[in-house]
Amino acid sequence: MMARKKITLVSFGYFDRKFVEDVARAIEKEINAEVTTKEGHLDLSKYYDVKRRQYNGDDLLKFVDNSYPSNRGKTMGLFGVDLFIPILTHIFGQAYLNGNTGVVSHFRLNNEYYGLKADRKLLLERFIKEVIHELGHTYGLTHCHVPTCVMRSSTYVEDLDEKSASFCDHCREKI
Ligand SMILES: [Zn+2]
Ligand SMILES: [Zn+2]
Repeated sequence: MMARKKITLVSFGYFDRKFVEDVARAIEKEINAEVTTKEGHLDLSKYYDVKRRQYNGDDLLKFVDNSYPSNRGKTMGLFGVDLFIPILTHIFGQAYLNGNTGVVSHFRLNNEYYGLKADRKLLLERFIKEVIHELGHTYGLTHCHVPTCVMRSSTYVEDLDEKSASFCDHCREKI
């Protein structure tokens, strides 16, 4: 019998507990895994790039990867700050392909960021899609071209809103 997949969501900074639990339950539904949640503690100022006024997504990914044991399955660091990697203006999240770790931020998933009215349900949907997408990378999935597949790449929130929170049959088969 194959052991059930294990996923730990570690939130850094302020997160509504109910929000994190809703994300955990949605992941459990999409990926047959045992999902647990934790609160992480970290001095984010070390990851702040004063020139870009954003936080270094590569360094944060490394930090989370080094801080949690891989024998607990996958670890996803949840953040609320604006993340970047040197070659891109921003990232919603990133993960090690076939690795154990990913990071995701809701900073640019909030309607308020775009001057629109807050929408908790939409924010939750976007965040769930982004977390499942990065988890997909940790299970070895690369980007998919099926329009509704959660593994389709998303640069803008509109891209996230167009796809579903589910894997297409082809991607699902591989995880
Ligand atoms: Zn991706
Ligand atoms: Zn797919």
